[in-house]
Amino acid sequence: MNVYDGWRIAAMLTHRGMVQTQNVSDADIIILNTCAVRAKATDKVFSALGRIRRAKKPSALFGIVGCVAREAGATAFRRIPDLNFVLGPQSYHKLPEIIENPDAKLFNIDLGGLEKFDSLPQMERSPRIAYIPIQEGCNHCCTYCIVPYTRGRELSRPFDACMRDTIHAAKTGAIEICFLGQNVNGYKYTDENGNIYRLSDLIRETAKIPEIMRIRFTSSYPTEMTDDLIDMFRTEPKLLPFLNMPIQSGAPEILKRMNRPYSLELYCDIINKLRIARPDIQISSDFIVGFPGETDSDFEQTMKIAQQIKYINSYSFKYSPRPHTAAAIMPNQIQENIKAQRLAALDNCLNEIQRDFNESCVDKTLECLLEGPDKTGNHLIYRTPFMQQCIVAHRENAPELAKIKITAANKASLRGKIID
Ligand code: SF4
Repeated sequence: MNVYDGWRIAAMLTHRGMVQTQNVSDADIIILNTCAVRAKATDKVFSALGRIRRAKKPSALFGIVGCVAREAGATAFRRIPDLNFVLGPQSYHKLPEIIENPDAKLFNIDLGGLEKFDSLPQMERSPRIAYIPIQEGCNHCCTYCIVPYTRGRELSRPFDACMRDTIHAAKTGAIEICFLGQNVNGYKYTDENGNIYRLSDLIRETAKIPEIMRIRFTSSYPTEMTDDLIDMFRTEPKLLPFLNMPIQSGAPEILKRMNRPYSLELYCDIINKLRIARPDIQISSDFIVGFPGETDSDFEQTMKIAQQIKYINSYSFKYSPRPHTAAAIMPNQIQENIKAQRLAALDNCLNEIQRDFNESCVDKTLECLLEGPDKTGNHLIYRTPFMQQCIVAHRENAPELAKIKITAANKASLRGKIID
């Protein structure tokens, strides 16, 4: 979601005649787009602002947008008095106001709804993978999560607006569409005639667009994985066989304390249905280790479910207490060294599963999407349908979508050869 917000901010300013620079000392306006999901990310924002303040031109405007802006609120101006703007994730479309009135302080952290989407200019050229936000905010209120506070209650964008953005992306260069939302599979929009639109409707319509060859969505909440959506994996070949559906913990007691009220049986049942619908589907998850009260036995259950489901491409984190959340004040907070040990054990396990899966791809031919050259310029990086990185030798006019024979694999990536 932050990557998407960054694109839209860049497009908004480009539309006003500005050009991008990576050099802080050249910039007339410096925008830090921020994430508040973990404490470490928030801390980094304020040390980065200190560095920017010293490096920027005296006349340059600087400030923060996104979830840290919402979390810090007006205290951001107290910590860094010469900040020019603090705009929450629903208010960054107001950024041009500071350019028009540079002597004022611009502050807006309202959770105003979805109006930003209608007031942002479209991008002239879309990237090959276009992110289309279809809903924002979340009603699930997991006890560790700051998102309901920073992004607000769940709102689904009108179906027509989502399709308008999708068609625009397709006509301006996108090959893959990734629908975005904090609770993306909870997407539900009712129009003025009472017609209800779900994520499966968006997928079905998008698959009819000839330019779009790949569709995916993230991030999914287990109990919102309805049968109509599962069926899309069976009927719609453009929908990639890859799904991020975070389980967070394998221990029922911890899931209860996280306020994620699904049983392991229900979760596994959904995975089984998905595998029946699409036998090659691969699942990814997010994990939190060291949640308050997590015992050794709870953690063992997380390790067990990771091995049982064989998650690929997963993300695991140490629990990080966040303000405005219930878990931050729960008793039995876990010591940092225990969190670190558990994280290392889980990462090892997930890495082994990833390596096994990557090795199982050797000698297979996968249709992959070009991302671009690597840092050396000697190779091209493609993305497989399972989101693995696949490296091939550089060549001119390489196809954007290529059939690649996989020749080698390690934990991090695949190597392959384009089949002409
Ligand atoms: S479902 Fe995701 S975004 Fe919503 S509260 Fe839970 S962790 Fe946060």
